Amino acid sequence: MERVRIKIHGIVQGVGFRPFIHKLVRYYKLSGFIENTSSGVELELEGERTELERFVADVPKNAPKLAVIESVETEYGLESVGFKDFEIRKSKTEEFRNTLISPDICICDDCLREMKTAGDRRYGYPFINCTNCGPRFTIIRDVPYDRIKTSMSEFPMCPDCDREYHDIEDRRYHAQPDCCPDCGPHVFFTYGREKGTAAEKEEAIELARNELKSGKIIAIKGLGGMHLACRCDDPEITGELRKRKQRDEKPFAIMCRDAECARRICEVSEEEEKILSGFRRPITLLKKIKADSYLHLSENEYIGVMLPYTPLHYLLFGDDIDMLVMTSANLSDTPIMFRNEEALENLEGIADGFLLHNRDIQTRCDDSLCWVFDGGEYFARRSRGYVPFPVRADISRQLLATGAEQKASFCLSKRNYVFPSQHIGDLKNMETYDNYAGQIEHFKRLFDIEPEAVACDLHPDYLSTRYAEELGIPVLKVQHHHAHMASCMADNHLSGKLTGLIWDGTGLGSDGTIWGAECLSGGYDSFERKSSIRPIPLIGGDRAAKQLDRIAFSLLMESGLESDSENAELYGEMLKRGLNCPLSSGMGRLFDGVAAILGIKEKASYEGQGAILLEASASGYGTEKGSYSTEFYENNGSLFFDWRPMINEITEDKRAGTETGVISARFMNTMIEMAVEQCRTAGNGRVVLSGGSFQNMYIMRRLPRLLEAEGFEVYRHRRVSCNDEGISLGQLCVLQYHLESVK
Ligand code: ZN
Ligand code: ZN
Ligand code: FE
Repeated sequence: MERVRIKIHGIVQGVGFRPFIHKLVRYYKLSGFIENTSSGVELELEGERTELERFVADVPKNAPKLAVIESVETEYGLESVGFKDFEIRKSKTEEFRNTLISPDICICDDCLREMKTAGDRRYGYPFINCTNCGPRFTIIRDVPYDRIKTSMSEFPMCPDCDREYHDIEDRRYHAQPDCCPDCGPHVFFTYGREKGTAAEKEEAIELARNELKSGKIIAIKGLGGMHLACRCDDPEITGELRKRKQRDEKPFAIMCRDAECARRICEVSEEEEKILSGFRRPITLLKKIKADSYLHLSENEYIGVMLPYTPLHYLLFGDDIDMLVMTSANLSDTPIMFRNEEALENLEGIADGFLLHNRDIQTRCDDSLCWVFDGGEYFARRSRGYVPFPVRADISRQLLATGAEQKASFCLSKRNYVFPSQHIGDLKNMETYDNYAGQIEHFKRLFDIEPEAVACDLHPDYLSTRYAEELGIPVLKVQHHHAHMASCMADNHLSGKLTGLIWDGTGLGSDGTIWGAECLSGGYDSFERKSSIRPIPLIGGDRAAKQLDRIAFSLLMESGLESDSENAELYGEMLKRGLNCPLSSGMGRLFDGVAAILGIKEKASYEGQGAILLEASASGYGTEKGSYSTEFYENNGSLFFDWRPMINEITEDKRAGTETGVISARFMNTMIEMAVEQCRTAGNGRVVLSGGSFQNMYIMRRLPRLLEAEGFEVYRHRRVSCNDEGISLGQLCVLQYHLESVK
């Protein structure tokens, strides 16, 4: 008989780990205790050495699916102290509280079965959950993760639930949000703030179903915020939603009852189905079966699809609703609504009815959004289901990185964990900014991090930069595209020197001009701008990002061509005098300009629309091999792609009546050839791809393959988004490197 001390590090709290351990202890007839610690859990057990060793070997093999065990430390041969049985000790309020917190998990099969079983005491109950499923991050107020520190503190357990909670044989053993119709939260339906409650419980859900079926727009409270839902088969209804929400053209995400329903309108590969129906339930961008179908939902070739993830969603769909529009309830650039009161107030006139409940959401968390690429997620937005799950990176210090501005996110680090925030949005909106600042404080408290230094963008006017400067700790400003490169390096655990192909819309360059189609050479410490594209004058500055015909005009004029723009005189005058015409080497701007020349889009109503529609126009022309000239010139030691010959050839193609899709494909082929040429001259064998323009799947399906054929090792983002949401990770790595090298 001896005693062993076991320390388990990783994601082992709030994932049913202690109950799992308890069962295993009973199986091996051991005694002792378990308690949560700062970095995971700690156990002391007594028994025979062989049994103890078997126990330790079993832990990683049979752990709950959510648990991530990173290390198990054992100290055998301690003197027995005569434990009588097994005890789960109360969480200590500890000095160090860096235990990981589980993201929200979709309802599990067991709970789903119970919910559908007549006679079960949770039959039809929309808040059913267990140790394997349910809300986590979005209901947690503070750590350690115990019911009293969550939204569930208001719902004391009834004797039945309490019995399950303490019964080791029960799958709700120590499930913090466990509840039932007798003791837990309830749903209700109302037509508006002044209208009172129209129905409660089952009847509320039934009423919402009927209203949806009859074509109404209903606000529904989800896990991390409110959705607006409506039928998606009727363009008149979705048109009404667009009108009310003032969302003219941006695609709507939909929720399908199951993967089979999704298959009716989209192609769903086996890999896509795995992510789509996995426990994180992101919105997955699936290719439409017919590119020109369901244009009232999405004007491009993809539709964002998710499957139900809360019990309430399942009850809402029942057996007869196949799919619904499910779009975040927010008003232009404000954060997603998450409180009953604010939804009732702000959605008046937008939603015809409200399906709400009395379990508070503590933290906003938008749905995640990704493509499925090589069997894994390729994120456009890493949020619900993933956050606050950390990523591992070699950052030992406690640091903060404040990200960019439009797709704001932040990262905090501690002991080689980096905690990327959820999707925050555009900081120029005041409520979004307040949420950003509030979430930084929330994360600091949850993970017990007090940053010693902060990294931010080089842009002096970004609100994230100003936030960093006001903290009163050392600040390091990291050039935007350097941060993108570092982010993709960290995402792939790379170090040393390599080539960064960084394509995005805009970012302040080290020379004070706007960059965005960069081929950099360097590492975490520094970089050189090897090549870019010829700068484009943006007539009217920021306005050109919306009025794409202004960019088209610049491209045509600089290429010695004519423009038939009705504003030719005004634009021409501004351009000639250089009046408010900042220069931009943004890849997004080149896409925008070409989209406008081709007549695909002249006025953008959302960010990236020109580029997205240009890509969509090439759908069905995937076999096009043609391309245009790739000429470069040198300036100040960097190579610049000269788009003027290409613009001339595009104009010739257009005049000759070549199909728009063919020209779009040739243009993108040209960008790919340009990139390969740039990588060759940059002269490093490894290439990282980062920046929002790499959300273009036409390019992502071709460029890496071509580079690999040329002998390059190519890396793309895997764990964080390639767009500006991902750059806080890069900023953090550059800062860590900087601090280590000055030490
Ligand atoms: Zn469950
Ligand atoms: Zn109960
Ligand atoms: Fe960027």
